Amino acid sequence: MSLISGCEDVSSEKSFYENADKYWKGVTPTVNGMLGGYSHINSVDIQESKKFLSPYLLGPNAKVGRTRALDCGAGIGRISKQFLLHSFDTVDLLEQNKAFLEEAKTFLGVQSAKRVGEFICSGMQDVILKDDHYDVIWIQWVTGHLTDEHFANFLKKCQRSLKRNGLIIIKENISSESVEWDETDSSVTRSYDDITAIFKKADLRIVQEKHQTNFPVEIYRVFIFALCPNQPVK
Ligand code: SAH
Repeated sequence: MSLISGCEDVSSEKSFYENADKYWKGVTPTVNGMLGGYSHINSVDIQESKKFLSPYLLGPNAKVGRTRALDCGAGIGRISKQFLLHSFDTVDLLEQNKAFLEEAKTFLGVQSAKRVGEFICSGMQDVILKDDHYDVIWIQWVTGHLTDEHFANFLKKCQRSLKRNGLIIIKENISSESVEWDETDSSVTRSYDDITAIFKKADLRIVQEKHQTNFPVEIYRVFIFALCPNQPVK
């Protein structure tokens, strides 16, 4: 069985993760580094994310709590700084690269950094999350670094870690047909069918999905998915 469905290029789990780690160790800890040289899409990205989540947090139909969020593959905290820390009392950052997490402490600014609950330095494939802990788990531009099995398992861990009415948000590049392999940073880009098959495997339901607009035409299409458990988690 392949590690990533439809992708024969990834044959060793060990080197898949090691090469990604190596790649990120060579990236400067800046917004531009986090966005692969596309720092000019930063504000449009953040704006659309805020717009997407806001009805769940504010207004007459808002059901999602605002106590604690988790930023996964957080990098230097680009999303936490500009968005999550404005919307939640506490945000935890989960990131495998130690240097990025160190930089986050400065990048976020003293006041915001104080509202970070935990700087969790771990791969998403290895992390243990606390049960019943988060209102929102935000996962952006990192799922391509996980094998299918680790991706589905991580989503199951997220389900157990969600509070009542909590949401998992995935914002990710989507390839137009089949899975595409990127040797440079050791990641894959899954198609819509591939990624949604993993949501299904993890027993998650799509509450809402949106195609990100106003991104440059030369980059992958980006989708935002709001997901919740199919079955109420006990
Ligand atoms: N989500 C952030 C950063 C995107 S860059 C943003 O949008 O600004 C991808 C980040 O994922 C990098 O910081 C990289 O170190 C991290 N990453 C890569 N593989 C990971 C893994 N297996 N577990 C956790 N983080 C990972």
